[in-house]
Formats: sequence, C-alpha cells, structure tokens
Amino acid sequence: RAHLARILDVDADVHAFLHVNERAEQIAAEIDRRRASGETMHALAGVPLAIKDVLVTTDMPSTSGSRILEGYMSPFDATVVSRARAAGMVPLGKTNMDEFAMGSSTEHSAYGPTRNPWDLDRIPGGSGGGSAAAVAAFEAPLALGSDTGGSIRQPAHVTGTVGMKPTYGGVSRYGAIALASSLDQVGPVTRTVRDAGLLHDVIGGHDPHDSTSLRHDWPSFAEAALEGARGDVLKGLRLGVIRELPDSGFQAGVAASFHGALDALAAHGAEIVEISAPHFEYGVAAYYLILPAEASSNLAKFDSVRFGMRVTPHAGATVEEVMAATREAGFGPEVKRRIILGTYALSAGYYDAYYGSAQKVRTLIQRDFDAAFGQVDVIATPSAPTTAFRLGERIDDPLQMYLNDVTTIPANLAGVPGISIPTGLAEEDGLPVGIQFLAPVREDARLYRVGAALE
Ligand code: GLN
Repeated sequence: RAHLARILDVDADVHAFLHVNERAEQIAAEIDRRRASGETMHALAGVPLAIKDVLVTTDMPSTSGSRILEGYMSPFDATVVSRARAAGMVPLGKTNMDEFAMGSSTEHSAYGPTRNPWDLDRIPGGSGGGSAAAVAAFEAPLALGSDTGGSIRQPAHVTGTVGMKPTYGGVSRYGAIALASSLDQVGPVTRTVRDAGLLHDVIGGHDPHDSTSLRHDWPSFAEAALEGARGDVLKGLRLGVIRELPDSGFQAGVAASFHGALDALAAHGAEIVEISAPHFEYGVAAYYLILPAEASSNLAKFDSVRFGMRVTPHAGATVEEVMAATREAGFGPEVKRRIILGTYALSAGYYDAYYGSAQKVRTLIQRDFDAAFGQVDVIATPSAPTTAFRLGERIDDPLQMYLNDVTTIPANLAGVPGISIPTGLAEEDGLPVGIQFLAPVREDARLYRVGAALE
C-alpha cells in the first residue's frame, strides 16, 4: 500500500511506470494469508517488484516502450517474472524504457520520457530509466532491468541506485523482448548491493527455455554481499584501473568521486594496479554496428501479422504495403535509424567491412579482458562519463547519446559481469555518481563482495 500510495503521489511527475498492477494489493494480501497460516516463505515474499516493460507478463501489457506493441498481452511470463512470482514477490507494474531498449535517456519511449527523481529536468538514464527512477523515488524497493550496452548500469549511475548486469547467460532472457541477442542480459536494480544479491538469487540460474543460459553452480549472491559487508574482502584485492581511460574524458565530479572511491578501497587494503585495455575505447564503434545488425534481424518479427499493431493503408493493400505502413507508423525514429544502419551493415558487399570488422574488434576487447584478469581480480571504471544530463540536451545528437556508453559497452561485448554502485554526489551539480566494477565471466559473486564492502 505504501508503494502504491507513493506511485500515486509522485508518478505523475516522474513517469516511471507505464502500467500499475491493479491486483498488487490483492496478491500481497494472499501472501500475507499464506505466511499467517504458517507456510515457510522466501525472504522476498510479499516484496513489490517493478518490471521493465521489455519483460513479458501475462497479467499486464508488454510494450517494450513501442507503439507497435501498444496493449500487447503475452501468453506467457518471462522466466525471471515467473521465478519472482514463485518466490512470492508482488509484481507492482511495468516500467518505462527507451523503445526496444535503444537509448540512454528514456526519451526514446513512445509513451513520453521518465524524469530523474533527483532533478525532474534531467534524464533518469536509459534504456531502463523507469526501473531506476522507480527505485530512486521509493515507488518500488526492487526492480528488474535489461542491459545490452549499459541499460541497467547507466540508469543506476545517474539515479544513485545499484545496477547489476550478470555474466552473459547467467540470467534467463526467455520472455525478454530481444534487442541484440549476443549482448542482452537481465538483472536487478535496487537501493543496496545486498538487495541486488537477493533478487539475483531469485531470478538467476539455468533455464532450459533459453539456449544461451549457462549450466553453472552459482553461489548465493546475497551471501556474497553479506560477506563483503562484514569481512576483509578488500585486503589484498587487486583492483585494475584502465590506463587508456584518462580522466579528461569524464566530468570533473565523476572523476573526483571515482578517485575518492579508489582511495577508500585502497585504505581498506585493495591494491590499485594500472592495466592496459587498448581496445576498450573502440567498444562504442563496434557495438553500434553489432547492435543495429542484430536488432534489425530481431525486429523483423514485427511484421503486422504475428504481433501487435496492424495498419492497412487502403482497401486491397498488399501484404508488403500493410507491413510497410505498420512499421512506418509503429516504430519511432531511433528504432528506424538502427534498422537502417543494421540492414546496411549486413548487406552483401558491406558485411566484411562493417559487421565483420566489428566482430574482430569484439574479439580484441575480449582478449584485453582476458589479459587484464590475469593481473587483477576486479576492474574499476566510472560507470558513465557524466552525471544525468538535461532532457532534450542530446536527443537530436545520436553520436553524443552513443558516446555516453563508453564504459558500459565493453562488458556486454565480452560477456563479463558488471555492477554500478553509488559513490556520492558530484560537487559541481549535486547529482549522483556511480563506480563500475567488472569481473571475469561467472565471477559475479566477486562483484557483490567488493560492492558491499565499498557500500
Ligand atoms: N545506450 C545503449 C543503446 O542505446 C543501451 C542499450 C541497452 O543496454 N539496452 O544501445
């Protein structure tokens, strides 16, 4: 009830939610009854959960922020949603996002932008700005996001929340509307590292419905966070800082907060080691070829026949005319831009020059990580170059929007886990800043230990 009341109070301004679950209170009451009757319940039973609209749900519409899926009802729940329901969590609603998760500001949502609760004139990050804003504004205690190039970690950075992108394959994407299948991961957005661990424990693990899902015996991430909070996990930890990411690329307050966090980690026994990752900075260029290529293929299924909207331009229109009219009306400008880029990059004669080269850069970035993790346990970077920018500031400049992803993208290209943790406020604008930690694949628990220690 407190969260529903809070949504009523602030969501007209924040616009974190696209849909609020009208049955939330009823579901919570049912959980209370089960608990009162003596049933042993999960630690998160009864806890409300905000769900990014990229994740399909049977009881609420799933639009992925697009007009083309307006009102779409899925016949099944995403695996992460069914696991949350099985733990007794209460789906509170669906959160706003950039259309098909393309963007860093939530301004590309077909349903209007979400605003940053810290300053309503600023963006809450993207694409999962709705989930991060809901948690930051106390409209929800926990949220689910998806991260293809930073859409969990960058919104966490600009809203002062914790955002975790698990190892690729660590959490099921079954029922996550695909953006770029070789990069997409689902993960938690929360207020504390331990909360993220608790939620990750619920949603993670192998899923036979997702062919990329890892078979791995994952440790408890909530336990890892507890260990980090009470133990000496920082003693002797080798923490890598990337030489090729100079401070000059970052807003002064972001760089200052990052160095403050490094000093605190060093004071508790971490050894700061300079490492080289020479291809890290080419991540953005490679990503913005690989992502549009995969997205153009994934979005081909919105053909006016199988899902969502259908526009018939005139009586007797052919299938092609209906398809073209539907996609013209249903997709927003950023989605069209990427479909055109991706189709071009994949076309005969250009494939090797664009997609092929980007894949080679991706391999070089993976090798950079392999070499770096031979020397250090965890890598640290600022989570993004700047604090929350103003609404409208970058909307007409796609390149500026894309460059915002420079520190988050490499983790997706390499499949490694990454977490963003708040480190305070930037001095010049009083807005939240986050530090990002990266670990080798399958070492997600390490991020919870280090993150909780810093917290
Ligand atoms: N800013 C990235 C993009 O626009 C975020 C993608 C994501 O993680 N969903 O592609």
